[in-house]
Amino acid sequence: MIEMKNVYKKYPNGIVAANGIDIEIKQGEFVYVVGPSGAGKSTFIKMMYREERPTSGDIFINGTNLSSLKNSKVPYLRRQIGVVFQDFKLLPRLNVYENVAFALEVIEETPTVIRKKVMDVLELVGLKHKARMFPTELSGGEQQRVSIARSIVNTPQLVIADEPTGNLDPDTSWEIMNIFEEINARGTTIIMATHNREIVNTIRHRVIAVEGGLITRDEDKGEYGYEN
Ligand code: ADP
Ligand code: ADP
Repeated sequence: MIEMKNVYKKYPNGIVAANGIDIEIKQGEFVYVVGPSGAGKSTFIKMMYREERPTSGDIFINGTNLSSLKNSKVPYLRRQIGVVFQDFKLLPRLNVYENVAFALEVIEETPTVIRKKVMDVLELVGLKHKARMFPTELSGGEQQRVSIARSIVNTPQLVIADEPTGNLDPDTSWEIMNIFEEINARGTTIIMATHNREIVNTIRHRVIAVEGGLITRDEDKGEYGYEN
């Protein structure tokens, strides 16, 4: 479902954040992306949803070549990919329900179908009863649940998460991981950049290590491999 061929990324300031990346990720995989700060993890995953474009090389998502994808088609790509961030990125003036419904960029659905989809994902993340609350009224873990609900409401085949537990305490982080496990068990591919050693070493999945813009390790049921 995801393929990168000789992907190279040089930022305008001259920094090379991807230095010839080749990778293949299949539908349904759960992949941790690990590595030191500044290694190129975020750049690697941002290129998958066209937040950044490679300087050279090819990236295919479900057969679509992102290099030749017109800007006008990017919204269609984004609808197939849910994105979860460390800092949640909820819209502060919208309540929980509205934050999730907002991501459901559908015109052809009836209000009844939209309501059902939103309430179904809120139930999955355990927040149905807080649908009317605003982000500031929620804990960090609850805000991340909303952000996960938003990322999956379009039923994407791929969810990309950039340090989703980075701002959460350990107990809350495990709860958030359980939700990602559940989403993955339903067949959705998960790609997660993380610094959480405990989680990577306990809930075993494929581990891709990035260092200096290169993939230095790629192991099934791998280990975190760094001291912290
Ligand atoms: P990581 O996610 O592993 O911390 P990043 O992909 O964020 O790594 O960054 C890789 C390198 O690219 C770093 O040296 C970082 O400073 C640089 N970088 C990231 N984003 C930009 C940008 N928009 N412009 C210039 N340099 C950037
Ligand atoms: P704008 O085009 O108005 O700048 P943003 O890109 O900021 O919109 O996105 C609006 C909201 O949707 C933000 O809260 C952002 O975090 C979220 N968002 C953007 N892209 C995605 C995506 N692919 N999956 C899930 N949420 C997304």
